[in-house]
Amino acid sequence: MPINLKDKIEHRLSENVQKALLSCSKTAEKYGFKIYLIGGVVRDLFLKKEIFDIDVTVEGDAVEFCHKLADEKLCKILQVQDKLKTAKVLFSENTEIDFASTRQEFYPKRGHLPVAVRIGCSLQEDVYRRDFTINSLAISLNKETFGDVIDYVGGVDDIKNKTLKVLHDNSFCEDPSRIIRGLKFAARFGFHRDKHTKELQEKYQNEQLHKDISWTRIKSEIKQAFSLNTGKIFDMFLANGEEKLFYAQKPEIKGLEIQTLLENHHVDFPWLVYLGCVLKDEEIIEAFCFTRAEKKVFSDRDTLLSENLSMLNSNYDIYKFFEKRAPEAVLIYYLLTKRKEALIYIEKLSKIRIELKGNDLKELGVTDGKEIGKMLDEILKKKLSGAIVNKKDEIAFVKTKTK
Ligand code: ATP
Repeated sequence: MPINLKDKIEHRLSENVQKALLSCSKTAEKYGFKIYLIGGVVRDLFLKKEIFDIDVTVEGDAVEFCHKLADEKLCKILQVQDKLKTAKVLFSENTEIDFASTRQEFYPKRGHLPVAVRIGCSLQEDVYRRDFTINSLAISLNKETFGDVIDYVGGVDDIKNKTLKVLHDNSFCEDPSRIIRGLKFAARFGFHRDKHTKELQEKYQNEQLHKDISWTRIKSEIKQAFSLNTGKIFDMFLANGEEKLFYAQKPEIKGLEIQTLLENHHVDFPWLVYLGCVLKDEEIIEAFCFTRAEKKVFSDRDTLLSENLSMLNSNYDIYKFFEKRAPEAVLIYYLLTKRKEALIYIEKLSKIRIELKGNDLKELGVTDGKEIGKMLDEILKKKLSGAIVNKKDEIAFVKTKTK
């Protein structure tokens, strides 16, 4: 007898989602489609974790199925991807569901996005393109078997044993981003890789095959993993030797150090601080297709690392040295070099602000644009040295200068 999770669907999914799934079930019955909940949602039903995304797979053509739903006025189709025959669909009140056609993928070039894809294969064939057994479970949404779990690969036992297991020996070569997905699931759920999966991963990492792989896919996974912002995940990343994926050396940094620094100093991209402590290879940085702001973190880090700090004699010098650099880059620089100047800047100097504005200075008699800039710089110098502290001091200082 298969495990049946109808009860869990009723307890764990919102009423709107349940209603949408029942509509799908009826439409599938009426038009002869076979449909299933698939992947993360099934895993998270077992794990009692919060469920964010609902993925449904259609044995056949999902776009055709979604058109039937729309013809029946049950939903609005938001997006269709014709190549893979996937669709995003809106049911009542913000209830979105992603539909995918079953597909087999073929990777003619290792580590690249699949080029050849066979749409409309059996569910069993579809399951083998997935990353881990725990993500390869399906739940039938079909009338006679509604709620039955379909487990072709032993995923239920692996969930019970908290084990991450790939589906075949070529898995990491086909798609090395699965290494980082594994890291993410290990950290999120406290799972461990089974012995064979660990060996396959290490083999892939040690061979350092080639750089010609899909780095954007790896970027997306590493962003999700490091955005969990726990020191533990960084330690695990290094303990697994995953820095080798980036052709990097292991840095002498503990995850907790990074986490604590980030807890005390807000930055826009915490995940880049973790990554920036490891990723140095210029070719890979280029291949990551970073946004302009993200790129600046790496170029600022490299500029800082190439400069000579022996010239910094005062707080003002230190301030000017770090001022224009992305805050993430300053944190990375500190983590890599442990230079006290960086810590002084992060903890103290970067927080110092001039309270007077240009208009205040005009009122105090500094009228010329160039003079205003100079005066602000002088106030800054005084504030950084501790000679003046608050707005009152700033005004008094300006007055001494304009007398
Ligand atoms: P999360 O909770 O992080 O969203 P998820 O498993 O739902 O977890 P998605 O990225 O939404 O993650 O992927 C949905 C499903 O697609 C996965 O459960 C897995 O079956 C499959 N999948 C995603 N990425 C890959 C990959 N790189 N290789 C193979 N299968 C993948």
